[in-house]
Amino acid sequence: MRDISSLRPDIEKCSEGHKSLVLEINRLLDLYQREMEALEAVYDVMGAKPWYIDFDDYGNITRCEWSDNYRKKLGFTDENDFPNSIESWIGIIVDDDREMVLEKFWAAIKDPTGKTHFDVKYRGRKKDGTIRFFRTAGVVRLHDDKSSNSFIGISYDDTLNHKSLSGLKEQYEIVEALSRDYLNVFMVDIPGKTATILKLDGYVTEGFGDKEKKSYPYEPFAAQYIKDRVYEEDRGALTKAMSLEKVKEMLAENDEYVMGYRAVDKGEIHYYQFTYLKLQTDEGDEKVIAGFKNIDGIVESAKERALLKELSERDSMTGILNRGFGEKTATQILGGDNKGMFCILDIDDFKHVNDTYGHNTGDKVIKKVATSLEEAFGEESVVFRLGGDEFAVLKKDVASKEEAKTYIDKFFDIIDHHSIDELKGSKFFASVGVGLFSEADKDFEELYKKVDSCVYVSKKTKGNILTFSE
Ligand code: GH3
Ligand code: MG
Repeated sequence: MRDISSLRPDIEKCSEGHKSLVLEINRLLDLYQREMEALEAVYDVMGAKPWYIDFDDYGNITRCEWSDNYRKKLGFTDENDFPNSIESWIGIIVDDDREMVLEKFWAAIKDPTGKTHFDVKYRGRKKDGTIRFFRTAGVVRLHDDKSSNSFIGISYDDTLNHKSLSGLKEQYEIVEALSRDYLNVFMVDIPGKTATILKLDGYVTEGFGDKEKKSYPYEPFAAQYIKDRVYEEDRGALTKAMSLEKVKEMLAENDEYVMGYRAVDKGEIHYYQFTYLKLQTDEGDEKVIAGFKNIDGIVESAKERALLKELSERDSMTGILNRGFGEKTATQILGGDNKGMFCILDIDDFKHVNDTYGHNTGDKVIKKVATSLEEAFGEESVVFRLGGDEFAVLKKDVASKEEAKTYIDKFFDIIDHHSIDELKGSKFFASVGVGLFSEADKDFEELYKKVDSCVYVSKKTKGNILTFSE
């Protein structure tokens, strides 16, 4: 593993003003160290360890470090046998595959965006002359100072698994993300019913964080964690979800098994997620890695998105759908094979309400109309505000004028009995236009125009008036 101790600034030697900065740097280096340790531990489980190549901005290799694990796969013992140079590697690739492998390797390294993924399959010759199938995948990390870019990859003996591991690159990325983002990472041995700690950076379950001891019986460990940490309402579901039978069942069908749950920390609820991941080792068997992480940030942004969606779809004053979203919904309903009723209404002499009783009272009237429409038309209807004192309603599966009229009459009845004290007992009215549509009517705009013209007909007479189109 990389030695990063030389990067560590000495707190004794720095000035007072820089002490907090140095502490922060050291904290981040510690974190990095733990992530790297976790990554290595996971690769140990897989039987593949990463190797590193540093190169400058011109693609010249400045340092190369093969993993011992890769060396051993090739039958070499140490650095003397298989030196840390790119030539050692080039030497073991069989002649027919060499050009293809190197072409892809240089393409990844010379790509100035660092976005080319290296993922190749080739034949390599072991020290004893036997040929094995290898698969090597890696990613380029470009650094800001441009002088120390690096290529990190893993090699995998693919001979046993000859059907080929299609997702090696994906597996690399998942494992990297797991080591980086998950606070606690374990290897779970399902038949042996044990959990082995690979990384413990988050909550430590009571009695399970012994520095010396790495392996624990899985079931008591899971039970203790759920009891101490998980939000009461989620305990039952999580007990089932984390049981070895369930994990085994889920991983029989998928490589990954993920679930969210709530945990309690100092009386506050936080969102967590576990991931059980099935990894193939080059011995051909399967290992299970489990990671636990906090997802408060993701949940928060999902909540924010829900809020934004809400804001983009709803009228802020009344809470019913706004014109844009209402028209979109209505257009979709007409586009499908539906029949029903559509109506538009406008409050009569509303300016007079504002002028006489004030704008706030006017607002109350608008809100009252919105809730009355929802109440009269029921849950299955699409009620929206067109703007000002104008509203629209679409209701599916209304087949006759008589039926349509019952809904409107109900609305008239509700506003007739309004209880807005500021209106001092006076009533307000609305002019309504209604049209029925059948499965054959697909054009919302056309329907809208027809119904809108009926509103003007209703306006000519005082009181709650309803006019049907045709
Ligand atoms: P008509 O009988 O012809 O419908 O006349 P009206 O007075 O109702 O006039 P109209 O429908 O053309 O105008 C609606 C008025 O509603 C215009 C505007 O001042 C007022 N208005 C629009 N939005 C709001 C609002 O959010 N709150 C309040 N209080 N008034 C609004
Ligand atoms: Mg009006």
